Amino acid sequence: MTGDTPTSTGLHLGHYVGSLENRLRLQREYDCFFLIANVHAFTTLAEKPGEIRANTLGIVKDWLAVGLDPETSTFVLQSEVPAIAELTFFFAMLLPFNKVMRNPTLKTEIETKGLGDSYPFGFPMYAVGQCADILAFRPELVPVGEDQEAHIEMCRDVASKFNQLYCGVGNRVAAEEHVQAGGLFPVPRAKIGRVARLAGLDGVNKMSKSLGNAIFLYDDEKSVQKKLNKVTVQADAATGLVPQSHVLLQYCDAFLLDARAKEIRAMYAAGGEVMHGHVKAELGAAINELLAPMRARRGELEARPDKGDSLVLEVLKRGAARANSVAEETLYLAKEKMGVALGRRTLGFAG
Ligand code: ATP
Ligand code: MG
Repeated sequence: MTGDTPTSTGLHLGHYVGSLENRLRLQREYDCFFLIANVHAFTTLAEKPGEIRANTLGIVKDWLAVGLDPETSTFVLQSEVPAIAELTFFFAMLLPFNKVMRNPTLKTEIETKGLGDSYPFGFPMYAVGQCADILAFRPELVPVGEDQEAHIEMCRDVASKFNQLYCGVGNRVAAEEHVQAGGLFPVPRAKIGRVARLAGLDGVNKMSKSLGNAIFLYDDEKSVQKKLNKVTVQADAATGLVPQSHVLLQYCDAFLLDARAKEIRAMYAAGGEVMHGHVKAELGAAINELLAPMRARRGELEARPDKGDSLVLEVLKRGAARANSVAEETLYLAKEKMGVALGRRTLGFAG
């Protein structure tokens, strides 16, 4: 189980190496749920619901373009699954307020997104909501980038606490044995991608949809190269060398063959004359080769009369029906454990 927030019209290379690659592999082995966190997009875009809708359609198109398969996996539109909202409220009681506010991912987001001290109440709330997004589907694994580790840790806390309080699981029982011990929720593990945190083109922050430092999966060849060409490469004043931590070298590791990346690193370490332009061109070619089939598939979708929107909405409707059948059962079982269930219910719509 994993997801993306619709804060821009598509996904970027950070998503690919951080999470999408794992999703592609895992969807062949596991019953997967991929969620569009459109409710959480309102934390920063409440005044622009039209953008959230357009972003949702765009991101699902990228999922299809990358090869996530709605026939074998379930695409979940968060706002269509009421059990998630209900679980959020119960889970909010299991997390100390100060612990949520100390969550390092939230703190970084407040800083890098310039939210100051006037962010809405719903902003920190989204971290609690994310526990419900995940646990509604009682998953084992959550394929995410490193920035999500703190959130997954909170989710593990919530699952453990719930199992201990309401399912009689002893507090010495190991996380991976909670279900055998009678717990409702597996304590899910984060599965971090091949590149845990891909840096953005600014070389400072992580590559992020909201920070204007991303190469998007649908960027055309020229834009990819242009973006790379703009990356500044400067030698460190003290050593006279381009630091090995430089973002260009990180991209070499991520997108070139290992041996070639090592060669380039050695070149920079030796401090000779390096043609940065050549390295950028080589990277551009490699990234464009990776993106070409995705770009083509997204292009095919967008070439449909309604830009593929109705196909996406159809996929989301089918997904909502399946997502609700699972999440409703989780909610019912959770309420039963908490002693507040009166019986199973059916929703008045079916996707
Ligand atoms: P926003 O800027 O709105 O927070 P984002 O770019 O961080 O957007 P999310 O929707 O928050 O994207 O993240 C979706 C998934 O992609 C998460 O699992 C996250 O860990 C992963 N991810 C995002 N950016 C990176 C990155 N630069 N490197 C590795 N993984 C990433
Ligand atoms: Mg993010």
